[in-house]
Amino acid sequence: MALRTIREQGDPVLTKVCRPVAEITPKIRTLVEDMIETMYEANGVGLAAPQVGILKRLVVIDVGDEYGPYIMINPEILETSGEQTGDEGCLSLPGKAGVVTRPNYVKAKYYDLDMKECEVEGEELLARAICHELDHLDGHMYTEKVVGGLHDTVYAESEEE
Ligand code: ZN
Repeated sequence: MALRTIREQGDPVLTKVCRPVAEITPKIRTLVEDMIETMYEANGVGLAAPQVGILKRLVVIDVGDEYGPYIMINPEILETSGEQTGDEGCLSLPGKAGVVTRPNYVKAKYYDLDMKECEVEGEELLARAICHELDHLDGHMYTEKVVGGLHDTVYAESEEE
């Protein structure tokens, strides 16, 4: 396993539409392992293949529930409902966050590493992460949906401490 370089906003790779994964090759398995390691190292809850420069429809997500990490190949949203509004950030835009409204419930299908079709239903953070990561596969960043501008997530420590 190896850490991959996370591409940052401004890199044209983040604006491209990704292609479906046709088959699970050793290269895809290595990519998945590397993406999971890279996501954990960066303390993220999700990472999409284009964020490491690979234009494939593949995302990994771990929101800390008992089923993670989710490895979602060729994912598609089947159903959404409700609404949640809250802060969202992205590993491709470190130190920033902004308010985004997303569905509160998402049902999605995807293929696992055996190319078996799976379904996931998520609420709250998982629903948000699925929407966010799938947007990356079509070349979209959350910043396109932010209301009220971006703010910094890294604060200087108080000098009194
Ligand atoms: Zn992102």
